[in-house]
Amino acid sequence: MAEPIIDWFAENGRDLPWRRPGFSAWGTLVSEFMLQQTPVVRVIPRLLEWLERWPTPADLAAVPPGEAVRAWGRLGYPRRALALHACATAIAAEHGNEVPEDVEVLLGLPGIGPYTARAVAAFAYGHRHPVVDVNVRRVLARAVDGLGQPGPARTTQDLASMDAHLPGGIREARAFNAGTMELGAIVCTARAPRCDECPISALCAWRAAGYPEFTGPRTPVQKRYEGSDRQARGRILGELRSTNIPIGGAALTKLIPDPDQRDRSVAGLLADGLIVDTTDGYALP
Ligand code: SF4
Repeated sequence: MAEPIIDWFAENGRDLPWRRPGFSAWGTLVSEFMLQQTPVVRVIPRLLEWLERWPTPADLAAVPPGEAVRAWGRLGYPRRALALHACATAIAAEHGNEVPEDVEVLLGLPGIGPYTARAVAAFAYGHRHPVVDVNVRRVLARAVDGLGQPGPARTTQDLASMDAHLPGGIREARAFNAGTMELGAIVCTARAPRCDECPISALCAWRAAGYPEFTGPRTPVQKRYEGSDRQARGRILGELRSTNIPIGGAALTKLIPDPDQRDRSVAGLLADGLIVDTTDGYALP
């Protein structure tokens, strides 16, 4: 199925900053951190601001980690900002301020897992690796395995499955990785796949089987955000980002009235290193 996906991608792939010629490896790495749990449209403006302010890893490493948390804004899951800062620090200190291109070396950096390591090696440096994100897993599950959903991630099997379809040529492999990801993002979507527009509809096992309902283990559903501790932690960080003044006492009580939730939220942020306890109250690190 590589050829039709590559041809479709050449015609239909979105014009995204990280796909433009000359986009730096550092930019690719930052984009992959941001895209892990945040949609493309929200990532693009933040990414461009970030790269203008910190054009190399050393530029980011030179500021306190709290600046990364502040600049992360409302992208969500702000531990990624701390991990990216730690990653930039390691690249600046141990790799001559150059993002490594070897998957094993990338895997040794803070915050980089199997997906990000391969995405950077493949998209920034053109190396031939299978790259598997949630969109790729969905396309493979449907087109190859005849299943409506991919179920929980299984890194080794998922990589082997993508590798089995990866073309031999470096350019083709890169286009196939990016094209399959794009197909899952804009055509073979989770809720409403548009099979009439799909370049591999004639090959799709799930379609051929009449779209049987998925009965296997499901990917865990994320808990509600409204009223959650996650939201409470986000409120504290939002306040610290906007005011740059340590928070505590009555201001913190006003922000999170429930004492148990307040204690849990502060403890969680302290444990994650997203805030520090100062004499004036809690502050960004
Ligand atoms: S035919 Fe439909 S279900 Fe199959 S891969 Fe294409 S969009 Fe997905």
